[in-house]
Amino acid sequence: MSIVAIVGRPNVGKSTLFNRLVGMRKAIVDDTAGTTRDRHYGTSDWNGREFSVIDTGGYALGGEDVFEEEIRKQVLLAIDESDVVIFMVEVATGITDLDMVVADLLRRSAKKVLLVVNKVDNNDQIYGSHEFYALGLGDPYCISTMSGSGTGDLLDAVVAALPEDSEAEGFEELPKFAIIGRPNVGKSSLTNALLDSERNIVTPVAGTTRDSILTRYNKFGMDFYLIDTAGLRKKTKVTEDLEFYSVLRSVRAIESSDVCILMLDASQGIESQDMNIFSLVVRNKKGCVIVVNKWDLIEKDNNTMKEFAEAIRYRLSPFSDVPIVFTSVPNKQRILEVLQTAMQVYYSRIRKIPTSQLNEYLLPIIEETPPPAIKGKYIRIKYVTQLASPTPSFAFFVNLPQYIKEGYRRFLENKIRERWDFTGVPLQIFFRQK
Ligand code: GDP
Ligand code: GDP
Repeated sequence: MSIVAIVGRPNVGKSTLFNRLVGMRKAIVDDTAGTTRDRHYGTSDWNGREFSVIDTGGYALGGEDVFEEEIRKQVLLAIDESDVVIFMVEVATGITDLDMVVADLLRRSAKKVLLVVNKVDNNDQIYGSHEFYALGLGDPYCISTMSGSGTGDLLDAVVAALPEDSEAEGFEELPKFAIIGRPNVGKSSLTNALLDSERNIVTPVAGTTRDSILTRYNKFGMDFYLIDTAGLRKKTKVTEDLEFYSVLRSVRAIESSDVCILMLDASQGIESQDMNIFSLVVRNKKGCVIVVNKWDLIEKDNNTMKEFAEAIRYRLSPFSDVPIVFTSVPNKQRILEVLQTAMQVYYSRIRKIPTSQLNEYLLPIIEETPPPAIKGKYIRIKYVTQLASPTPSFAFFVNLPQYIKEGYRRFLENKIRERWDFTGVPLQIFFRQK
């Protein structure tokens, strides 16, 4: 998916615009129950075209004191990592020094830039926008993120500027795995262990979307692409310590993948940053394998692994049906199992269950435990079918879909998981009017 970044100095209205763009999709995004929404990254769509939006200000900058250096970082990240940059200024203040800094950086990049003059709350203020031509970034789009006026034209321009969503041909059929996780968990070590040992049968392939490097791996009957995030990392000189950057790197790897191999450090357990990455995986509806690495550092008895797995699943809940593999990269312990598990998740994710099987199994269960009646109205589920979509999605046809509660949705999801192996695969369940 293409990425749109919003840049600009503080208080011009970036996060208000971000919320407006992502808010349009809130209902759909929140379908994935239990995922915590990240404030600065979300998905939007306009006229049927989906794209990711990042409020870079939200990540890179702290309080009110903004130094030129910080805004430079923010803009360089946006240039590096996005497809389209929205540069936001504010009509009443005119052009400030920081605006000039941003404009200079953007003009020197080859990136597609849309100049947005915000807080044009009434028509009179449009005249004030003329001075921004001096930034040398073309026609400004006048908007009021507060009222929403002008945002339609802006979105038309954003969509027109997005590159084609080009999944290069031939890449589609093979599984794509991304190794993700926070810094120092062992991602590069695992990648190298996999690739080095198989050096002679590895073929690097030039990137598909946004120059991520795909490496084809073909051994032991497994044929797949590994998305090389280490390659992405070297693209910029910007310091590594920005959480923003590691999140962005994960976002891009996740979006290009079918199954994410999320690595944790056993000596540190599962932390909130791990959970953020996990919720990105779930929100993007990708398959997931959890790898608890550095297992060699843990003192173990017979129950340690089981207890570890339980503690992790507790944190991942409600989506806790996820495979967990315990590894030690230097000892080459269970490295192959990681790949085999990812492969299983991949095949579960693309599986299509025949409608007859779904109904034969689920209708009796629904008859036995129907959705609770609401306001004296009986809710009847007539039949269920799996939709044609990249991730398993089931539509239940109902007389009164609006009355089905989250608890019942989860009940049906659990029943599906009991019958078919969807371990590591987020499921979507829709209720539709019959
Ligand atoms: P950010 O720091 O760039 O993310 O800016 P915010 O989105 O937090 O907005 C800063 C302030 O400007 C907030 O008080 C907003 O309510 C206000 N604001 C945002 N958009 C508009 C607008 O279109 N018109 C007016 N009058 N105020 C706005
Ligand atoms: P990345 O930032 O996630 O790519 O992490 P690296 O692969 O660079 O690993 C960070 C550090 O952890 C390096 O010093 C590795 O040698 C070390 N490391 C990686 N895997 C293991 C492991 O399974 N056990 C131990 N003890 N150390 C590991």
